[in-house]
Amino acid sequence: MISEPQSLVRVESNLFLQLDNLGHEQVVFCHDHYTGLKAIIAIHNTVLGPAMGGTRMWAYSSESEALEDVLRLSRGMTFKNAMAGLHLGGGKAVIIGDARKIKTEALLRLYGKFIKNLNGKYITAEDMGMTERDMEYIAQETSFVAGLPHYRGGSGSPAPMTALGTYVGMKAAAKKAFGTDSLEGKTIAVQGVGSVGEILIGYLAKENARIVVTDIFEDRIKKVAQQYKVTVVSPEDIYDVPADIYSPCARGATINDSTLQRLKAQVIAGCANNQLADEQLHGTACMKMGIVYVPDFVINSGGVINIATEIAGSYNQAWAKAKTEEIYDRVLQVLQKAESQRRNAQLVALEMAWQRIQDIARIKATY
Ligand code: NAD
Repeated sequence: MISEPQSLVRVESNLFLQLDNLGHEQVVFCHDHYTGLKAIIAIHNTVLGPAMGGTRMWAYSSESEALEDVLRLSRGMTFKNAMAGLHLGGGKAVIIGDARKIKTEALLRLYGKFIKNLNGKYITAEDMGMTERDMEYIAQETSFVAGLPHYRGGSGSPAPMTALGTYVGMKAAAKKAFGTDSLEGKTIAVQGVGSVGEILIGYLAKENARIVVTDIFEDRIKKVAQQYKVTVVSPEDIYDVPADIYSPCARGATINDSTLQRLKAQVIAGCANNQLADEQLHGTACMKMGIVYVPDFVINSGGVINIATEIAGSYNQAWAKAKTEEIYDRVLQVLQKAESQRRNAQLVALEMAWQRIQDIARIKATY
């Protein structure tokens, strides 16, 4: 029988101890001197199906930071895919390096070969720093890639569906916190205006929300500010904005000891993965502070739902949209359960997802 992964805390220094704690099945290190490829593929759990999760390309400050990121992200995919009712396990990959500087066709195709050699145990798609075009290069070498452009019959970028899911999940959280799901007049602080953040802002603008944004890249901010009425703050100041809703849409672990002392929001609802630095500690802290925190892997599953239809054989946008809109009810269900049990919403959601995995593992154990 599979053993339950422990709740997500800061990663240990011993690799096999980390894998044991988090419950990973396999971790693959990919390296090539010529192209400069340094990638880590982490396969967390394949009970529900092949491990599915995007590839992130990021200029990590150290290899251990990259390893920690991929281990946390892949574990998150297991629960995300399970909670969304998909027949997919959890995995994720990171490529170490600045996507604006070192990404080449050769690097991506070589990376595709590493995925091919896993024989379908891991399927990739886009995450931060990766595009549909990149998926096409990977697809030259392996069929275990999704998020291909529409013209190739693929599901395209997962970002629009992730943004839709984040938007409906935010509305559900608003209903819980404010008694109405209207976002009109609410001040919403969006951290990160990349592929998902930018589209999310479009939805928020339509509802006449007051939008405050930040990003580390000037060009991203400029693009959004040209399209929408937004107030811009520096990346460090986003935590001090007197907002009703804080929407983390950049990187993980932004809900931690220091930021919780500064955040004024009653709701935290964003698309970033692994928002809580420590699920146990900071999820419980949110609850005690009366903050409605929407579990990240529940609210941000729109993208993988979109991808799942492509993996299933033929992309169906209408089905993906309808499934993504179900996030509204799922968020309410989790928040209500957490409230009635007076428990940390993240742990409640993890438990719900884990129950499905265990149920299916039991079925698989018989002939
Ligand atoms: P992206 O790379 O397109 O955008 C992220 C943006 O955040 C970038 O513009 C970047 O400059 C900015 N950023 C990074 N660090 C920042 C900081 N400290 N302060 C402010 N801004 C910062 O990525 P994306 O695809 O929009 O994804 C955003 C988040 O959502 C990631 O955590 C990703 O894993 C998660 N997510 C994305 C999808 C998807 O479909 N793309 C699906 C599920 C989850």
